[in-house]
Amino acid sequence: MTSERELRVRMAPSPTGFVHVGTLRTVLYDALFAQKNGGKLVLRIEDTDQSRKVEGSVENLLEVLAWAGILHDEGPVIENGTITEKGGYGPYTQSKRLEIYKEHVNLLLEKGHAYHCFCTSERLDEMRALQQKMKQPPMYDRTCAQLNSEDVNKRIAAGEKYVVRMRVPRGEEVVVDDLVRGKVVFQTDTIDDQVIMKSDGYPTYHLAVVVDDHLMNISHVIRGEEWLPSTPKHIILYNMFGWPLPQFAHLPLLLNPDKSKLSKRQGDVAVEDYRAKGYLPQALVNFVAFLGWHPGKGEEREIFSYDELVDKFDFSGVHKSGAIFDIDKLNKVNSHYIKQLSLEDLYAITKSFFENKKYYADMDVEHRDDMMRRVLAVEQDRLHVLSAVGDDNPFFFEEPVVESEFLRWKKNTDKQTIEALTKAQSILMAHPEEWTRENLESVLMEAAGEKRGDFLWPLRAALTGAKFSPSPIDCAWVLGREKALKRIQKALELF
Ligand code: GLU
Repeated sequence: MTSERELRVRMAPSPTGFVHVGTLRTVLYDALFAQKNGGKLVLRIEDTDQSRKVEGSVENLLEVLAWAGILHDEGPVIENGTITEKGGYGPYTQSKRLEIYKEHVNLLLEKGHAYHCFCTSERLDEMRALQQKMKQPPMYDRTCAQLNSEDVNKRIAAGEKYVVRMRVPRGEEVVVDDLVRGKVVFQTDTIDDQVIMKSDGYPTYHLAVVVDDHLMNISHVIRGEEWLPSTPKHIILYNMFGWPLPQFAHLPLLLNPDKSKLSKRQGDVAVEDYRAKGYLPQALVNFVAFLGWHPGKGEEREIFSYDELVDKFDFSGVHKSGAIFDIDKLNKVNSHYIKQLSLEDLYAITKSFFENKKYYADMDVEHRDDMMRRVLAVEQDRLHVLSAVGDDNPFFFEEPVVESEFLRWKKNTDKQTIEALTKAQSILMAHPEEWTRENLESVLMEAAGEKRGDFLWPLRAALTGAKFSPSPIDCAWVLGREKALKRIQKALELF
């Protein structure tokens, strides 16, 4: 790469339905690196594998990128509900570039760097079975590499199906000079004569990615480590075309806590699932940034805003070893960002989660919004995901079942328990209906005096029926005067 080359980074997802958290991590690093270095961020849709294509994926991808705050300079965008493109290197969707790939495959065929292969899948299966028996690596045996152009033309004219393969040079070394992994050496003898164009006229990933990265003037190719074995094939193609190489950077794998490759079986892998559960975009972005990267020694902080990440991001901080996806850490980060929200913002984004709860429809419409705000005010500090709102405190929404024994604090007598509840009852009755959290706190704490448990435990038990709950004062505040008094009365009736 020459120093005067413009810095252009591409994100190249395949539209296969949902956005994997690994894809989010890759596009985030793409964005951080481009933005930090004043470069351009290009979005390209890699849809050469039509069998994996899922309708609506591109719209969904654009939506997820917007949600995560990742903004690209070029590529597909949604305008007035339809997908268009911006930028001068389009089209940015591979299925719209088939002619370009054909021209480039023809160039390689002319130069003898590629050849037509007419082998049927049955023949290839037999070949592989034999190789397996002989304990040889599965590689195309180059039967069709020897065909002369006359034979080839005849077979094409006769309508035989064919693919095009690249003719990988033998006995050479290919060095991938990687920003994360340093120099990684591959022997061309271990590299198969890869198919570059399929029988349906579609290019394979290998050809399309090289042609596009070159024609779109991409300076940095950043992608997951699973693509590293493909990179020598790409380098061979760059050399065949006589093109300069981009700078490669392969990011560490994402792992489950048991160190296996991150998979659906052990948790969610789609960004959409995290979004649906109520993870905030700032939290997911912050968390994902640290999957395989660290700002460096001496930096203890784990909470970084997007702008701080841009400022700190560097490939020297990207690790080689796999990064473990630790959901507890994500919950901690999410909880941090939830705490930062104003009550009104929290209410606005949590409302849809409330609406999905079983109890929501039965709530008193007139007081519902106020009630939800109070629940949020009390739960905000402990909430890890927005979808869990209310889940720890079901007694806010449904009357608890309470037994008299449960109302008793330690070895207190019935009389003491009744006294405590009656005292709470009379204080609440005397208190104005529009009580605030603060004034409720001051009157009840004053009433509790020194021996808090004696007074507060029966109140908590009556209001919640639960051993663990927010403070009884907060519970009374959330429930409101009428409900709180009703529950105390019910508790008294047990004696
Ligand atoms: N299209 C590939 C994917 O979705 C990306 C490969 C690359 O970045 O070169 O994973």
